[in-house]
Amino acid sequence: ITSDIKVLLLENVNKTGQDILARQGYQVEALKSSLSEDELVQKIRDVHVIGIRSKTKLTSKVLHAAKNLIVIGCFCIGTNQVDLKAAAQNGICVFNSPFSNSRSVAELVIAEIIALARQLGDRSNELHNGVWNKVSAGCWEVRGKTLGIIGYGHIGNQLSVLAEAMGMRVVFYDVVNLMSMGTAQQVNSLNALLAGADFVTVHVPELPETQNMIGKEQLEKMRQGSYLINASRGSVVDIPALIEASKSGKIAGAALDVYPNEPGGNGNYFNNEINSWAEDLRALKNIILTPHIGGSTEEAQSAIGVEVAEALVRYVNEGATLGAVNMPEVNLRSLTLDEPNHVRVVYIHKNVPGVLRKVNEILGDHNVDKQMTDSRGEVAYLMADISNVNTSEIKDLYQSLEDLGSRIRTRVLY
Ligand code: NAD
Repeated sequence: ITSDIKVLLLENVNKTGQDILARQGYQVEALKSSLSEDELVQKIRDVHVIGIRSKTKLTSKVLHAAKNLIVIGCFCIGTNQVDLKAAAQNGICVFNSPFSNSRSVAELVIAEIIALARQLGDRSNELHNGVWNKVSAGCWEVRGKTLGIIGYGHIGNQLSVLAEAMGMRVVFYDVVNLMSMGTAQQVNSLNALLAGADFVTVHVPELPETQNMIGKEQLEKMRQGSYLINASRGSVVDIPALIEASKSGKIAGAALDVYPNEPGGNGNYFNNEINSWAEDLRALKNIILTPHIGGSTEEAQSAIGVEVAEALVRYVNEGATLGAVNMPEVNLRSLTLDEPNHVRVVYIHKNVPGVLRKVNEILGDHNVDKQMTDSRGEVAYLMADISNVNTSEIKDLYQSLEDLGSRIRTRVLY
């Protein structure tokens, strides 16, 4: 019954998300701040759904105390604040919002391409200091220039469309063969991209393979007087190598939104105590430095609220795990719960041999209309729509599944 569902939202989760959950009739408690581990252990006991952002740590200790918790919504991109494995082992599904800020990042990069080509940061800084410095040497239009996009995913391909609309030619490099947007062209090596672009922008995930993906060797392959933009992750560009390339004039400008060792909060942190190269970087001309704001817009925040809250509702009401970060993705279309004597069984279990036989012995007393199962590591997720179930039989059905040794969590939705 939806009004029995207790939702705890921490860290001022966006109003769009709160409203979607409240409209379902759930009991929603929203707090502005985060809670400590001890406070969470107390508070989480009778909560079914928790929504957090990046500061709340859901450790295995907290998750063990969360006896009623079925789902966690991370209203942000990252999920390393949650012990994902412990959550899966306790049958708790975790969702996040990986793509709701892609457009915001793409728009920032467009702004940076023009700002770098026109040395906008330098002119603005100079005039803020009272210096009138009208120059056209080394300042360019972007029309007709080539943009090289490394990583043609959600952000990369949005950017591709926007850049072409400004009259740029677009080439991209990706480890996967992908459909090009507009007239963009995929190139088959990183070196080909570096050698053929006036602006290079990186949009790959943080992976062992992408660590220092742009270092001394790659910067040398770039065109003389070209530009580099990194709004992906701080580990992808080797900053000391970029400083050298910038001092030598090889790179005419760069924009960085992400760094190794980013501070946890706002303040005076961008100095050599944190990163030995910070002051060298600050001293360079035509380098735009922004504090990881690529996805920081009102629109992205509100889209995160909607995306995560909708995933939570789908999970609570229908058991669908599409987009889950720690469970197999399972969904059955056309939920028939409105029809009499129909129920949906969700059975999260240890991924060991022989479980399905036992489960189907139990379900087999009824009419199984549809069934889907998938596994991810040690955990498997089974969903079955069954008919011919009288209300009086639901409890027995639930208990029989609960009594199986493989059980992590059973839900019967009706
Ligand atoms: P995505 O997963 O949609 O796309 C990434 C693309 O990179 C994929 O097409 C993938 O095939 C490709 N790729 C992976 N490894 C590669 C490699 N070694 N070489 C070439 N291509 C490779 O990701 P996205 O949503 O577009 O995000 C891209 C990056 O932007 C991520 O690092 C993400 O963390 C970062 N990001 C930053 C901000 C910000 O505020 N600055 C905001 C959102 C995302």
